Amino acid sequence: MRDAPIIDSRPILPGATLGILGSGQLGRMFALAAARLGYQVHVYSPHAKSPTAQVATRETVADYDDVKSLENFARSIDVLTLEFENVPAKAVETIAQVVPVRPAGEVQYIVQNRLREKLFLQQHGIACAPFAEITTAQQLAEALDQIGLPAVLKTAESGYDGKGQSKITTPEEALAAWAGVAQAPAVLEGWVEFQRELSVLVARSPSGQVATHGPIANEHVNHILDVSLFPMAELEPFATEAQRIGRAIAEALDLVGICCVELFLTTGGQLLVNEIAPRPHNSGHLTMDACATSQFEQQVRAICNLPLGSGESIWPAAMVNLLGDLWQGGEPPWPEVLADPHLRLHLYGKTDPRAGRKMGHLTVLAGTAEEAARRALAARDLLATACFHE
Ligand code: AMP
Repeated sequence: MRDAPIIDSRPILPGATLGILGSGQLGRMFALAAARLGYQVHVYSPHAKSPTAQVATRETVADYDDVKSLENFARSIDVLTLEFENVPAKAVETIAQVVPVRPAGEVQYIVQNRLREKLFLQQHGIACAPFAEITTAQQLAEALDQIGLPAVLKTAESGYDGKGQSKITTPEEALAAWAGVAQAPAVLEGWVEFQRELSVLVARSPSGQVATHGPIANEHVNHILDVSLFPMAELEPFATEAQRIGRAIAEALDLVGICCVELFLTTGGQLLVNEIAPRPHNSGHLTMDACATSQFEQQVRAICNLPLGSGESIWPAAMVNLLGDLWQGGEPPWPEVLADPHLRLHLYGKTDPRAGRKMGHLTVLAGTAEEAARRALAARDLLATACFHE
């Protein structure tokens, strides 16, 4: 048992200014939730007119290594949170001299690197796929012998949505995979035969209160999340264990804020952790329309040390992502999809709809999550059909 951390447990009350590093859609939805609770939001990122800045109270456009701007920003806020984990550690340290950073820099440090993340899991007895550190082609050959095929090689840093990953199914593919990750430090993982991918969200406040959402069922296409469903009867038998794993991780990290734990449910019925994201997550977007408390409100409550809300489902739901591909033929025909009265459309205010770029999502509420997914996919098909008919 380590000592309980010394923390400032005074609540940060509505009216205060919440700072956020990073200005994409997660920051945007955080800012909207914060505004609803009466907070001001100051966003800092190198990008002007960002999705977050469009809805925040105040914006600083500066680089993450601009110490002067970081210090000025820090003096204008009461607490800092982050919308992505790859913010340079120095930027976080500079701000941490002035105000609490939630989650703390140590949490970002662990999850910024897949090897550190997996060693952390191992150290805390939390199951994940077998893995090995790879820094040379020789090490890769040895690790493949040990872990077996198929396997997947992932860069240790800067990988997300399947970027920097290569599946290896034959020994001959090993060298191509090594070239594929540009011979950067990597982790080899055993391939997991899963029946489902799922996630749990865990919020934890400075006073140690913990609340969970999920498990949410997730389906990926081309390594990018495509559809999320909640609640799913087939995941009920695994809910307690998935939540236990999530809590154990949040506690071991001494997390203050919210994190998403992505898991595999193997064909043998075991839960293995794939990844930890110390922030709200794409798979939790449906909580905005389908749960008593959204993941973004939970993030606000946790970093402000307010009591956490309930993550319970109030209506079965499914979310589908809307990628830039749907904009190929111009602006998609929104009135057509909004004709479903139980569909909630969320657009992120991005002006450059590149293929594969997350532009928005839609959530459908229905009698069951499966029915909601059918309708959400049908709505997206409508948009896709319109796009290809242009
Ligand atoms: P990641 O970037 O690690 O979250 O991986 C993106 C997606 O690739 C996951 O959601 C899975 O669908 C797939 N994937 C990653 N690692 C593995 C693995 N070890 N076994 C099977 N599928 C994997």
